[in-house]
Amino acid sequence: MSTAYTLRGGRVAGADFAERDLHLVDGRIADHAPADAQIIDARGCLVLPGLVLGHTHLYSALSCGMPAPPEAPRDFPDILRLVWWRLDRALDLELTEVSAAVGAWLAVRCGVTTLIDHHASPAAITGSLDAVARGVEAAGLRGVLCYEITDRNGPEGAAEGLAETDRFLAALAAAPDTRLRGMVGGHAPFTLSDATLRACGHLCEKHGVGFHVHVSEDPTDDRRARAEHGRGPVARLEAHGLLRPDSLIGHGVHLTPFERARLAAHGAFVAHNARSNQNNHVGYADPATQGPNVVLGTDGIGADLFAEGQAAFYAGRAHDRHFDAAFVQTLLNNGRRFAGARFGEPALGTLSVGAPADVIVLDDRSPTPVTDGNWPWQFVFTQSASAVRDVFVAGRPRLLGRAPAPDFDEAALLARARDAARRLFARMAEIAPDAR
Ligand SMILES: [Zn+2]
Repeated sequence: MSTAYTLRGGRVAGADFAERDLHLVDGRIADHAPADAQIIDARGCLVLPGLVLGHTHLYSALSCGMPAPPEAPRDFPDILRLVWWRLDRALDLELTEVSAAVGAWLAVRCGVTTLIDHHASPAAITGSLDAVARGVEAAGLRGVLCYEITDRNGPEGAAEGLAETDRFLAALAAAPDTRLRGMVGGHAPFTLSDATLRACGHLCEKHGVGFHVHVSEDPTDDRRARAEHGRGPVARLEAHGLLRPDSLIGHGVHLTPFERARLAAHGAFVAHNARSNQNNHVGYADPATQGPNVVLGTDGIGADLFAEGQAAFYAGRAHDRHFDAAFVQTLLNNGRRFAGARFGEPALGTLSVGAPADVIVLDDRSPTPVTDGNWPWQFVFTQSASAVRDVFVAGRPRLLGRAPAPDFDEAALLARARDAARRLFARMAEIAPDAR
């Protein structure tokens, strides 16, 4: 028996938002549906390809309301030391799984169908990627997962991160999962030794995957690379074979023009995280200067790509009056292209026949007619994640009429998350920050 849905009479993107039926059959967009297809009334709604969240940290999904840091952070290294490196050390496997599950579920509610995650839990590394995978699987999303390998917790921590990555990638290769992929992850060059970068390069080569790493989010990365290694962070990555067409560089706020050109020459992707850059006051990265492969991420500030795209637009306008609303759509489409390549599905993120059925339905709240031509401006000025009504991932409904799919108990997950958050906050209070 097939699993088939017909989205009846929605206004479909890519066909100038004309009313038509869209058929989802056995996980793919089809040109017709069998007679027993379930009919979803989409009249008065907008039908779009699902959104791809290009860089996030599900491990921070329980951070809102965490205890204040023991002292006020003075700069970006302080923000890491006093906040995020105390949070990630407090995570055990149970907290990791709950955090991933609730973060992934809230992403579904924002119309995200694929997320690219960057995970850290230094006190519980082994098995942590399985815990993240269980959380993402429970929500029913596609995920591209990795562990943030780093030397900041000593050589044992680095070795355990490398081993966890190798184990997880081998397990995915042995039992291919239709909705999960992996990468090799690194925290940031300033916490990675040359020996560890070399080992990361070997893992990329062995498993045929790219490297997902923060680079030059703040000037610290560049300063320390030059002082301690005699060359900048991008040159270090390049020397170890880590700049690849399947690699993803988070932030890159302080990359030099030469470094941007090196990333572009290798076809590496860059994740722009407008709100995170503002929140951490690390500076402004103009995504239009970061090459042809820039995607949009939230860096763990939820999963609302409407809000993120709007923030990127307004930040761009504030810094460069030529920033165009259409560029937000370019960033989102680059994310779909990155995900499509990871899943071996070039049509992922389109609504063409045969493409994976990653589809979202939004209430049309615009007071003016939505067209393909004005969609970039509609996205910035009239749209919101709160309009997301239905979400399908690989043809599987995750949200229908704003209600979770029947196999998903949202209330139980939220209750479990709140219990977990209390435990997390208590553990964090016991963890002293590293010395400055
Ligand atoms: Zn990040």
